[in-house]
Amino acid sequence: MDPRDEGVKEMSVFPTGGANEAYARYFTGKSYLHMLSQEQVVIGNVTFEPGCRNDWHIHHAAAGGGQMLLITAGEGWYQAWGEPARRLRPGDVVHIPAGVKHWHGATAGSWMQHLAIEVPGDDCRTEWCERVCDEEYEKLEGTK
Ligand code: MN
Repeated sequence: MDPRDEGVKEMSVFPTGGANEAYARYFTGKSYLHMLSQEQVVIGNVTFEPGCRNDWHIHHAAAGGGQMLLITAGEGWYQAWGEPARRLRPGDVVHIPAGVKHWHGATAGSWMQHLAIEVPGDDCRTEWCERVCDEEYEKLEGTK
């Protein structure tokens, strides 16, 4: 499906792509995915509708690995387990070491788009955990 049919406009110089069906079961709300690179370094452009976030998850690796997020548009959240959520704005860079449980997504009132870079490593895999429930997510509003 073309997201432009759903009122989604290009938010940055990177294409929004289509509905993120491959990972939809790990997201609350709708997201869109456009793979920018599948060689050398894998980079996807992920767009979250307002209120959309992914489930708690861990990027595992035996060596190296992890993920970097480069925020390209909108406003969002990043939270690592046991830490306060961090508000994300365009230009922000988030380093997520392998093994750190975390989630990322839009704020309730804004779209958010980030480039997700898979940091190369050995035996990389992603473990998906529990959802970020509404109560937990709604508590973030009003914080900075
Ligand atoms: Mn992640």
